[in-house]
Amino acid sequence: MTGVGQLREVDDEMAEQSGPNVLAKYITSTRGNKLIAVGEFVFRRMKVSNGTSYWICTHYDRKKCRCSLKVLEGSEPPIVLKQSQEHNHCATFGIVEAKEMVQRMKIQGFVSNEAPSKIYASAMASAQLSPSGAIAMGRKEAVKRAIRRVRYRNNQAPSLPKSLQELEIGTLETSGGENLVLYDSGRSASNRRFIVFSNDTLLENMTRYTEWHADDGMHRTNNSVERWHHGFRVLVGGCHVTIWKFLECIKMDVMQNRVQLLQTSTGQATPKRKKKYVDISDKLKRLCDEAWSTDMTTDFLPRVAYNLSE
Ligand SMILES: [Zn+2]
Repeated sequence: MTGVGQLREVDDEMAEQSGPNVLAKYITSTRGNKLIAVGEFVFRRMKVSNGTSYWICTHYDRKKCRCSLKVLEGSEPPIVLKQSQEHNHCATFGIVEAKEMVQRMKIQGFVSNEAPSKIYASAMASAQLSPSGAIAMGRKEAVKRAIRRVRYRNNQAPSLPKSLQELEIGTLETSGGENLVLYDSGRSASNRRFIVFSNDTLLENMTRYTEWHADDGMHRTNNSVERWHHGFRVLVGGCHVTIWKFLECIKMDVMQNRVQLLQTSTGQATPKRKKKYVDISDKLKRLCDEAWSTDMTTDFLPRVAYNLSE
């Protein structure tokens, strides 16, 4: 995949078989193994010994092709020291293009949350894939499986804990290395586990405000709390995600909050509240002030209820 090297002949006798200007480069198989492509022929690694690796044609088993390569181990791009025997089959045109395309889809699958079928569809739509490349790509299902596999492997993290006591968070840090687990009651024998996700910077910010909104399920949540709930739900992207994905999302959320705080602190306007909600808040504030000053007790709740049902 990475670069192109030229065959280097060390043995004059082999010059005829090697061909002077054949390009060799590393590519990655659909299953993720390293391969070497020489033109449109592909080789897989057999063994390494004394700084030399031995590669055989991928048609070794199926077509009994005995063409093989001796490659300087660790060379990048691959330096082919010697090629033995000729292929007994035609080149698979488009194979290199196809493998590279699959590799790009796998990377896309790893960095995004898009469905494999969507990644496949958009790759097919966007790339200038030649007909031979498309044919060499193989079945759509195999490509989708490869995308899922790379995603699964990389998300595999530690295995899922069976209980809160088994959960071992390890380190949860921002990209700047700030710890995000502010408090953890620990893996005690009791069934309760109390973990606070935050960091000093966020707490520091909270000290600047005179009002905090707590969401305990009893009070009417205000729009910003609802907005956070909605945003976090979208970020998580599912109802029963693993604890590891949840922790990853907490991390992402903290980091995007920091960006928002930074924007606000540098004078960027916060989103405007809808007039309807501004009015209700004003009315409620007036009602509360009045209740405090006049000792109103009987009428207070019905009046609040009237405002909320509007
Ligand atoms: Zn072959």
